[in-house]
Amino acid sequence: MGFRIVMLGAPGAGKGTQALRIAERFGLPHISTGDIFRAHLKEGTDLGRQVREYLDGGRLVPDELTCAIVADRTGQADCAKGYVLDGFPRSVPQAEALDQTLEARGEQLDAAIDVDVPDAVIVERLAARRSCPKCGAVYNIKFTPSALGDKCDRPGCGADLVQRSDDCEETILERLRVYHETTKPIIGYYERQGILRSVPGAEGTPDAIFAKVEAILNELGTA
Ligand code: AMP
Repeated sequence: MGFRIVMLGAPGAGKGTQALRIAERFGLPHISTGDIFRAHLKEGTDLGRQVREYLDGGRLVPDELTCAIVADRTGQADCAKGYVLDGFPRSVPQAEALDQTLEARGEQLDAAIDVDVPDAVIVERLAARRSCPKCGAVYNIKFTPSALGDKCDRPGCGADLVQRSDDCEETILERLRVYHETTKPIIGYYERQGILRSVPGAEGTPDAIFAKVEAILNELGTA
């Protein structure tokens, strides 16, 4: 089944974890703007140099840059059947730009899935988040640790897990502020389009949350 999906939710809500699972289950590309920016930072590209100050400060990269990257990526051949956007759009102007790009291609989004988690839980979760720089797997040292401790336990990986530099408390609070001010209004935007689906993301294991996400998508696929 092919879908064009947008994942919504505060930083640390678990939208990345769910996005990866959707991508795997339905064979769709997972497009994370944060991952794209971090890869450029790591490789020291021009784009990496342009976005460093924004990522380090927990602020949003300008729309012009971000929207162009997404328009280019979603236009590639592997996106013909659909994709899962993770971390984009993050503002109403970005959501509008995405709609324009889709419209020009005669396409539309199938669903915007909001993973809903209260702020207090977010701060606790982000401080405990670790990720694999090699395969992108995400862990929580308290709730979903790696079976190999500080190494990635995905088959054939084994890389050393890292804490993202923007997961320190000061930047976490700034990212949450940006989320409430700039990103949260997108929920209303997609609600008005009739494509918003919400799943509670604070309770239950990632598996239990994914079961709800999968049910939503299966329902869409057979509608
Ligand atoms: P994430 O991995 O999604 O939490 O993104 C990490 C950082 O990348 C954010 O704090 C922003 O600085 C930047 N970023 C990611 N996605 C976007 C976006 N759609 N618009 C602007 N900046 C973004």
